[in-house]
Formats: sequence, C-alpha cells, structure tokens
Amino acid sequence: MSEPKFHCPKHPQSGMWESLSGLRCNACGDLAITGDAAYDAYRATASEPAVIRTFAVYRQHVERTDSNPEGHFPLEYHAGCLCEEAGEVYGKVKKVVYHGHVMDDAMRAKIVEELGDTLWYLDRVAERIGVTLEQVAQANMAKLRARYPNGFTKARSRDRKDGA
Ligand SMILES: [Mg+2]
Repeated sequence: MSEPKFHCPKHPQSGMWESLSGLRCNACGDLAITGDAAYDAYRATASEPAVIRTFAVYRQHVERTDSNPEGHFPLEYHAGCLCEEAGEVYGKVKKVVYHGHVMDDAMRAKIVEELGDTLWYLDRVAERIGVTLEQVAQANMAKLRARYPNGFTKARSRDRKDGA
C-alpha cells in the first residue's frame, strides 16, 4: 500500500483516504472537515470546486462518484437507499435524544455526513425521473408558497384543503 498523502490529526500514522463522503481516517473513521490541515491539503488536490454553489455543480460530483452512471441501478434502488440514508440521520439524532450522546462537533459532523448521503441519493432519484434538484426545490417552494402565503400558521395547516 502506498504512503498516505493525508494524515488524521488524531492518528497521524494511519493516514486518511478518499471515500464517497470525503477524506476519512482509517483508524477512527472521522471525516476531515474545514479547518483540518488534511482537509485543506486534500482540497488542493481535488478536481471539483471547493464550494458547491449550485445543484448542477453538485450533480457533476454525484455523477463522478456514481458506481453505475449508465443507470444500471434502477429508480427503486435509489429510492430505497434514500430512505436508508434518511434513517441513518434519524439514528444519529436518536442517539442524542434518547441514548445520552452529546451533540458536539463530532456528532454534528456525523449527522452532516448522513445528510450528505441522503442528498446524494436524492439527486439520483431526481435524475432517474428526469428532473434536477433545482426543479425539486422550485416545486417545493411553489407548493409551500401557495399553502402558506404569509408563512406557516397552525390554523392554515388545520384548514388545508389538499389533505396531504
Ligand atoms: Mg450513510
């Protein structure tokens, strides 16, 4: 195995390796985050932009890391994985709310990782039905603008006619 190019602040001997979610320590599993020397070094070598400003740019990253870019995995595979990743978000929240874990920076980073996994599969579901995440966001905004034109109120929620 080649020498690691990036090193975990907690485990400098083990190195950090690129995973689907980003740069991850082999020893502790932590992801490198903004402010870590390893993250900055990794960012300097990565081909995609450091800051994702549009879903179109994000989709380029997703397609680069899709193991089946030609669509061999069907819609229902990605829809199922979307549910699985959303469940992983809940699993972390459950640990904080019910199991005495602390919402510290490490837990926040784990939840961010699971939210990212969820976003990744959300993009794949959108792509499989032929829409962009911009279109999904736009449609959601239009629906909620019509439902709550002056912002959310409990009364408007109770009196909704669409029943959804
Ligand atoms: Mg996950």
